[in-house]
Amino acid sequence: MDRRMYSARLLDKKLLSESAQCYHLEFDVPELENFAFEPGQFISMVAEDGRGKSQTRAYSIASAPRGNRFDLCLDRVDGGFFSNQLADAKLGDSVSFHGPYGLFVLRRPLVDSVWIAAGTGIAPMRGFVETLFPSATEDKSDGKHFWLVYGARHASEIYYRHYFEKAAAEHSNFHFLPTVIHPHEGWEGLRGNVEVQVRMLLLDDVGMDSLIGDAKPAQAYICGLNEMVAANRAQLKELGWDRKQIAFERYD
Ligand SMILES: Cc1cc2nc3c(=O)[nH]c(=O)nc-3n(C[C@H](O)[C@H](O)[C@H](O)COP(=O)(O)OP(=O)(O)OC[C@H]3O[C@@H](n4cnc5c(N)ncnc54)[C@H](O)[C@@H]3O)c2cc1C
Repeated sequence: MDRRMYSARLLDKKLLSESAQCYHLEFDVPELENFAFEPGQFISMVAEDGRGKSQTRAYSIASAPRGNRFDLCLDRVDGGFFSNQLADAKLGDSVSFHGPYGLFVLRRPLVDSVWIAAGTGIAPMRGFVETLFPSATEDKSDGKHFWLVYGARHASEIYYRHYFEKAAAEHSNFHFLPTVIHPHEGWEGLRGNVEVQVRMLLLDDVGMDSLIGDAKPAQAYICGLNEMVAANRAQLKELGWDRKQIAFERYD
């Protein structure tokens, strides 16, 4: 395992959602010309806490490889040490890290797949979309279909909503299915948690962004907090899926 330490320098920071206190962070790695990783992998960031103790936290990379740069999607956790330090970082600040690590990566050859995420579990999925659908005209998806079922508490917490909507409008084999647990008045999209929507998708219920021709997910990628990951794994097993068809990344 490569334990070499690098420094990530914060180049840009955007608030993705005020209510969720979620940030999009962009870094470069000054000591590297290329930071090589597979989309979906994570890095381990390291910092000293107030008592001089070294603390390490994992963060999924929220982008495809591009030179020595990478992005993160970060939630500020109430009372949390590392997430607050990162959320409060100023442009030009550096954070130590090692990695990349992890097996939550696109399996080859590609097959029709469902990507299931909630909250910042969207980070690896953004890397997947940037990789398979780099622009309006470029397509590296081998003609396979990808359904991104993305759960948020409120519509204002659908991170990267416009980016995914645009990618879905540009690529007929990428389907963006955001679902909201507490919809505001006038919300016309999907409602309820991701399990409900995944179930409808897999059982091809009417009203969903329906399955296209013979295309049907044969591989699932699930990312987020353990409760959501466990519920989705259990449902897929109940629907007859083999564990080899299910890749997952748990944040807690
Ligand atoms: C493989 C992996 C990838 C991850 N990727 C991301 C990512 O892309 N973006 C991201 O924001 N986080 C991600 N995390 C979570 C991240 O590593 C930290 O756990 C999180 O930032 C909280 O750290 P903290 O030091 O602020 O909180 P801590 O000081 O460690 O914890 C404070 C309290 O918050 C609770 N808590 C811990 N994590 C969470 C959480 N995620 N949501 C709600 N409550 C929590 C703890 O149980 C504890 O009670 C990932 C975790 C793993 C294992």
